[in-house]
Amino acid sequence: MASRETLVAEFMERVAARNTGQDEFLQAVEEVACDVLTIEKANSAYAQAHVFERLTEPDRIIGFRVVWEDDAGQLQINRGWRVQMSNAIGPYKGGLRFHPSVNPSVLKFLAFEQTFKNALTGLPLGGGKGGSDFDPSGRSDREIMRFCQAFMGELAHHIGPDQDVPAGDINVGTREIGYLFGAYKKFAQRFHGALTGKGGSFGGSKMRVEATGYGVLYFTACVLMRRDQQIEGKRIAISGMGNVATHAAEKAISMGATVISLSDSSGVVLAEDGLTSESLEWLRGQKAAGASLDGAPAHLKLDFREGLKPWGLTDAEIAMPCATQNEMNEDDAKNAVESGLKLLVEGANMPLTSGAAQALQDAGVTYAPGKATNAGGVAISGLEMSQNSYRRFLTSEEVDAALKDIMQRIHDTAAAEGRDGDQINYRRGANIAGYRRVADAVCAYGVL
Ligand code: NDP
Repeated sequence: MASRETLVAEFMERVAARNTGQDEFLQAVEEVACDVLTIEKANSAYAQAHVFERLTEPDRIIGFRVVWEDDAGQLQINRGWRVQMSNAIGPYKGGLRFHPSVNPSVLKFLAFEQTFKNALTGLPLGGGKGGSDFDPSGRSDREIMRFCQAFMGELAHHIGPDQDVPAGDINVGTREIGYLFGAYKKFAQRFHGALTGKGGSFGGSKMRVEATGYGVLYFTACVLMRRDQQIEGKRIAISGMGNVATHAAEKAISMGATVISLSDSSGVVLAEDGLTSESLEWLRGQKAAGASLDGAPAHLKLDFREGLKPWGLTDAEIAMPCATQNEMNEDDAKNAVESGLKLLVEGANMPLTSGAAQALQDAGVTYAPGKATNAGGVAISGLEMSQNSYRRFLTSEEVDAALKDIMQRIHDTAAAEGRDGDQINYRRGANIAGYRRVADAVCAYGVL
């Protein structure tokens, strides 16, 4: 059999030729290819079905124009997309992102990752992702509402509880899901679970907002437990200051960790002695008001550094990048290693450049990939779909218990597939476990 390197190089040549210039997508495909191509080659059913190559072609990509009116009465034109990657094991499922950096390459990488992540949860969820190049920063609440309604005017034709069930992602939170679901309900003339992350009064699940960040910590606890360690007393550097980052920080604080940073696109806030619930609330308030992160009251002991990232600024044995893709480059990773990094747990999707991932591997840092660690959000979205179908709602305690259970199961599945002597390669384990589940379904359907 050809070497793994040759298999990957030949495969990536074909994929690159079909996806010119789609750097994020190619980066995500290559990372999985390194782990699964040898598995596929060794399994004649998978190999004959060309499963992995098929999984790099979305079932379909829906692209559309979004026209809306701003507060000044001017027409604004944006682009919207939905990438329906694979519904091999369930309806397409994945978030919507509103950010100027959104383009088909970014959405294809996210939908591709989502396919494996969703398989890893053990729930019947396919993979998809969507969004728009709309920039919500500085926009009024009414403008956000009009944009969401215009966006849904097109998307509504392509989603539904058995078809495709979007949720939130960057810049799409509970408020936006409210506007999107309201518009869906009006256009489709249906009230059913076509979106998740909804408000509690109209079908949302308890704990969906917290689930991704809390799940990251539950996964981290599983990794540490294998080594007879615990989160209490650990110094954790977190990047980002949105849904995932702030809930990861909240849970870490409650578990007794010292959270030494949060960050956003303006810079990093350092807390040498650790964030407290009070300082976290102050930061959330500043973000909600669109205000500066500088100038916190002295007793909160926060130190804002404009334009910087958290990595390597102060000692931390655990890093949790929770902002966006490729936010940590090779130099950042080396700086973090010099400051004592032992474990990196991804909160964001693909936050490491290939160079950063290599630098961590060279330094022997344990690496837990987003596909496994941030799957708590989509898992609770899966529970929201079930709750919407059988019209019975779980309590916060029940959802939290389910989340812990799912994160433990994801950890154990990835650990079992990724065992390498007495070490665990979580990336390899997550990629292979997710791939196998989707591959078995793809093979069962024949040539389609
Ligand atoms: P939010 O929009 O709530 O927060 C994103 C945060 O990242 C903001 O603080 C933002 O800063 C910061 N950020 C964005 N781009 C950059 C950048 N280029 N440099 C520095 N900071 C940046 O998004 P979420 O917390 O929901 O998502 C964060 C990540 O987690 C994404 O990768 C997402 O795909 C992933 N994820 C989210 C899930 C969820 O349930 N929400 C589920 C699974 C994964 P600013 O405010 O200044 O723009």
